[in-house]
Amino acid sequence: VLRHAIQNATARELRRTSHRAELAIDATALSDALERSDVYVHYQPKADIRTGIVRGVEALARWTHPTLGPIPPDLFIPLAERSQLIHRLTIDVMNQAMLQNAAWRARGLHLPVAINLSPTLLERADLALEISSLQQCHGLTPDHIVVEITESSLVTRVGTALSVLAQLRLRGFGLSIDDYGTGFSSMQQLARIPFTELKIDRSFVRGAPERESLQVILRSAIDMANRLGLVTVAEGVETLQEWRMLQEFGCTLGQGWLIARPMAGDDLIGWMKQHRVQ
Ligand code: C2E
Ligand code: CA
Ligand code: CA
Ligand code: CA
Repeated sequence: VLRHAIQNATARELRRTSHRAELAIDATALSDALERSDVYVHYQPKADIRTGIVRGVEALARWTHPTLGPIPPDLFIPLAERSQLIHRLTIDVMNQAMLQNAAWRARGLHLPVAINLSPTLLERADLALEISSLQQCHGLTPDHIVVEITESSLVTRVGTALSVLAQLRLRGFGLSIDDYGTGFSSMQQLARIPFTELKIDRSFVRGAPERESLQVILRSAIDMANRLGLVTVAEGVETLQEWRMLQEFGCTLGQGWLIARPMAGDDLIGWMKQHRVQ
């Protein structure tokens, strides 16, 4: 009974905190945060599912508010999208990620970095050019950069978005379909864009070792992507059973807490040494 009461109280407190954060954060607060460099980037490894060797990282935005503490991305990314701050935020994240990539490279580490692109940004006809200029400024080659776009954003976008994606690919950037399986895209839609990678959503990975229906979906998504010549990535791998199952299904890369939580760029080299994953 006591444990239950404590759990309830904790849940209430969590709800209250996130409610407080929701009330207190608005476009002005986010704009100030970008100004003060309170928005920074953490990196989560994507590892070869057979050998455990790290093949790349995903850049994930973090915001620590001076009084409210960490604000979850699921709160501030939608806010950025609503308030037109998403372009500024994304350029900021890209700049930080590219600087970090160059720093890793100076220490002998060649790790492509994946950046999340909000669907609203795909309306900007000059986006590919802008990312290219950034990449050149940082002395990187385009194969160091992967762009992740959620599957759901492909369904409704037409015209400009498709052309921006094609331009990114032509310029040599990696193109990844994020959260695959949640967006109801058709094969025809996927085939129109020259993707290089498919990331299977966490919801298909979690609990899959105990659920045959999830295994069927996983197996066919991995088979299809492999046949199309895409790198397959499983998201949110938390257990060794999930990892082994994905190995058996022929998945290329795995990302999740089993390997590592997202971490600061400077911690990655030390982490890799400690875990002998390279
Ligand atoms: P996402 O792109 O699907 O990123 C993966 C999310 O799953 C991250 O949450 C990551 O911390 C979390 N994750 C990784 N491994 C595990 C695991 O094993 N178990 C569980 N339960 N979770 C895991 P995070 O960092 O909170 O980001 C949430 C979402 O916010 C991202 O989902 C992405 O859609 C968005 N986001 C984050 N940074 C950016 C950004 O710079 N730009 C844009 N447009 N969106 C971003
Ligand atoms: Ca992503
Ligand atoms: Ca994802
Ligand atoms: Ca997601």
